[in-house]
Amino acid sequence: MSIEKVVIVGSGPAGLTAAIYAARAALQPLMFEGFNAGGLIPGGQLMFTTDVENYPGFPEGVMGPTMMQAFRDQAERFGTRFIREDVRKVDFSKRPFTLESDEHNVQAHAVVIATGARANWMGLENELRLAKSGGGVSACAVCDGALPIYRDQDLVVVGGGDSAVEEGSYLTKFAKMVYLVHRRDQLRASKTMQQRFFKLVEEGKMKPVWDSILVDVHGDQSITGVRLRNVKSDELRDLNCKGLFLAIGHTPNTELFKESLELDDKGYVKPPNPGNTYTNVEGVFAAGDVVDHTYRQAVTAAGTGCMAALDAERWLAAQGLE
Ligand SMILES: Cc1cc2nc3c(=O)[nH]c(=O)nc-3n(C[C@H](O)[C@H](O)[C@H](O)COP(=O)(O)OP(=O)(O)OC[C@H]3O[C@@H](n4cnc5c(N)ncnc54)[C@H](O)[C@@H]3O)c2cc1C
Repeated sequence: MSIEKVVIVGSGPAGLTAAIYAARAALQPLMFEGFNAGGLIPGGQLMFTTDVENYPGFPEGVMGPTMMQAFRDQAERFGTRFIREDVRKVDFSKRPFTLESDEHNVQAHAVVIATGARANWMGLENELRLAKSGGGVSACAVCDGALPIYRDQDLVVVGGGDSAVEEGSYLTKFAKMVYLVHRRDQLRASKTMQQRFFKLVEEGKMKPVWDSILVDVHGDQSITGVRLRNVKSDELRDLNCKGLFLAIGHTPNTELFKESLELDDKGYVKPPNPGNTYTNVEGVFAAGDVVDHTYRQAVTAAGTGCMAALDAERWLAAQGLE
């Protein structure tokens, strides 16, 4: 069996950018672009969105799937080879590394992991339908909050941690009022974030809705409101709004690596030296949302994908394996 120089797992912005750089460095990368692992498809999370308005180079915005097809075309043009399957098993305990899918068993000197993460949803039918159709339901305020549909409107954020406060406070730049719906009567967020939240409440920009969970989303083409249930009284309440932002965490796609790589307490790949893309296994690199629970943007994923390819190239050169 021949040994690949670099195998890339995942075909979102991180994986495809790594592929472009690795291919241009004549490493002939092989990419497992996924099939349906982690509920994602080839192209990654942006295949589930409509307009991407914050990726540089597209002054008029671009449809997520169109952008990802362009990434893929560019990677292919420089010689990336693709396998449209999920990796099911890896062995990073000895070199060369091995990666297995249903139909392929591959050996590699270096591996770039770019399997991404998925936003957690409540799983309500209307929530998921309106999220897919761009009907005012989102899991990313920084991605979508500046869209005209949310300007001067009442918006709802669900969650009680740092991300929820972060997303909510970002939305206050545009919204009339941001309601923060949390299932408890106090936030899980850090002290600093709590202070930020209560300042915004004082300023009349945010309002807490305590002890409440989201039980339904109203609206046909776009959201008109949400139904909440008070967990203490069981009382149902409808709240009108033009936007709903879920901030109840993300799940990194690292199930496959939990025996092979060091992960943090949330399951993200843990880089031993922040600032590069090395993992705790020499020769295995990680990029994109699978290591990033802070920024989670296409451009940061692409940036770290570039770093991973350069790190892999230099590491291979140092081993005499180019
Ligand atoms: C609805 C939505 C809208 C968004 N809008 C924006 C936006 O407007 N602007 C912005 O900057 N960001 C946006 N984001 C965030 C952005 O999509 C992510 O930050 C980015 O896609 C992360 O890229 P990634 O390459 O790390 O991983 P992902 O895009 O998550 O891709 C992961 C890839 O890994 C593959 N994979 C997973 N497991 C396996 C396996 N076992 N074997 C093989 N392949 C596997 C998947 O198939 C997928 O191809 C949005 C996210 C969502 C969900």
